[in-house]
Amino acid sequence: MKVKKESTRTCISCRKSRTKVELVRFVRTPDSKIILDPSGKISGRGAYICLDEDCFNEMKKRKRLAKELNVEIDNERAVELEEQFNELVKKKR
Ligand SMILES: [Zn+2]
Repeated sequence: MKVKKESTRTCISCRKSRTKVELVRFVRTPDSKIILDPSGKISGRGAYICLDEDCFNEMKKRKRLAKELNVEIDNERAVELEEQFNELVKKKR
């Protein structure tokens, strides 16, 4: 039997496995909106990304979040998410 100390998730940008505290979660709500979920507790299809601007930029460039969650993200929403993400990065420092 495998012993797991901490559950990990894979960053959709760099594909590294990390523990949840190093990641931030995006969730697709039932009405097909993408929201940032710092608590990790909102139900819905989720995707994880490192709390790292490089990963965010890479994800944005390759539209990984939209692909991963199978939803369109308009520019306005993308800007909002980026602002919220940057806030979290700042808090983490
Ligand atoms: Zn990453």
